[in-house]
Amino acid sequence: MDYFPIFLDIKKRPVLIVGGGEIAARKVALLQRAQPQITVVAPALCDTLAELLAQGEIAHRASEFSDDDLNGCALVVAATDDAVVNRAVYDAAESRNLPVNVVDCPELCRFIFPSIVDRTPVTVAVSTSGTSPVLARLLRAHLETMIPASYGRLANLLATFRDKAKARFPEMKARRHFWERILQGPATEMVFSGREEDATQLIQAALDGGESTADKLGEVALVGAGPGDPDLLTFRALRLMQQADVVLYDRLVSKEVLDLVRREADQIYVGKKRDYHSVRQEEINQTLADLAKQGKRVVRLKGGDPFIFGRGGEEIATLAAQGVPFQVVPGITAASGCASYAGIPLTHRDYAQSVRFVTGQLKDGTINLDWHSLAQPQQTIVIYMGLQGLPVICEQLIKHGAAASLPAALIQQGTTVHQQVLTGTLATLADIVAGQEVQAPTLLIVGEVVSLHDKLAWFKPITVD
Ligand code: SAH
Repeated sequence: MDYFPIFLDIKKRPVLIVGGGEIAARKVALLQRAQPQITVVAPALCDTLAELLAQGEIAHRASEFSDDDLNGCALVVAATDDAVVNRAVYDAAESRNLPVNVVDCPELCRFIFPSIVDRTPVTVAVSTSGTSPVLARLLRAHLETMIPASYGRLANLLATFRDKAKARFPEMKARRHFWERILQGPATEMVFSGREEDATQLIQAALDGGESTADKLGEVALVGAGPGDPDLLTFRALRLMQQADVVLYDRLVSKEVLDLVRREADQIYVGKKRDYHSVRQEEINQTLADLAKQGKRVVRLKGGDPFIFGRGGEEIATLAAQGVPFQVVPGITAASGCASYAGIPLTHRDYAQSVRFVTGQLKDGTINLDWHSLAQPQQTIVIYMGLQGLPVICEQLIKHGAAASLPAALIQQGTTVHQQVLTGTLATLADIVAGQEVQAPTLLIVGEVVSLHDKLAWFKPITVD
């Protein structure tokens, strides 16, 4: 090991920064997180440091570095652009055995700055021993995505139970088992998803009675899988997919997204197709509840966002009624995904001040929508499930006053490598679409904003069959 990693308590301890430029300012910003008393020695300060000085955050000695600046210091950083000064700081610090860092100069460093994942009080530090700071940053980015933002909150919550756990389980082994059970149980996910009161009750119950019913209950996460491109998943969606015991998914969830599910998880297809539901909705609702009651971590993956034309409300109503813990993870809905990837801004100062999401599902050959309000100008209409009803939709909009020349687009398999965008007008789109082999799912966008597609389309994958 070239460098020994330690975590240093520098709270209220004097730390010296030599140099007054932006690089020095960056190191100051980093060190400030640990609340030392920072003095900057430099003939002049950059704007950032001058501001910190004005706010009383740092002290400043406006002159060249001298050995005496090191008196009483706990840590020294040299960040000047003058190699001679940097060397002098290093030599002076060395003669006092003071930890010193000369920025971007590994041979003049007694300590180096790691890349930091900050979930205070949980801190992860990554170093490549100065060989490749970029590599350390990449690794840090990986870790950032894997460690939930509320990890620190979890640690703080656990700390409030430390003494109680010690009293309840005086023997170390029993105590360790207790904490392992808590940390591998539902309490952690409760904290991550903002249900800290539930988590507190769960831990307290575990301390009081050993076992609690909630402890044995699994939980259901209703997770938005987005419109297709797996890169559009949220961190939380991915984390839950990788912890799941069982995953229920339907037709809209792309194969690429499913590939990210934990390999050992059971995958249950509850696909839905128009006109026929492979598994009836009530059955899905009850299956979710039953699996969770068996103690399983259940992920219900839904295309797009679970609360937009996804029956998410019905599924969690059953869970709520039966006392099964659940959470809802939003996803990128088809409207946002398809619009972005097709270069069609849903609102635009010149063309549309509002946007409406409607379902265009046909019932007995008609669609029950408020055509009059949908035909009003200066808005964008996004129609889900509108392929079958496309001719009716265009016809009704024109009939209720929309211009026959109003641009409209049909986006097929949006955000995937198979994405296709067909554009036309209310008068022409139905015929254009009829002449093509269309692949579901498709989304219809109507409004002046569609005219921007020609200029703004940027997503152009090459399809390899
Ligand atoms: N909850 C989903 C919508 C479910 S309704 C969401 O928020 O996106 C199903 C309809 O969504 C489809 O009929 C289609 O109109 C639309 N849709 C979903 N994914 C799509 C995609 N990748 N491309 C185009 N349309 C899509």
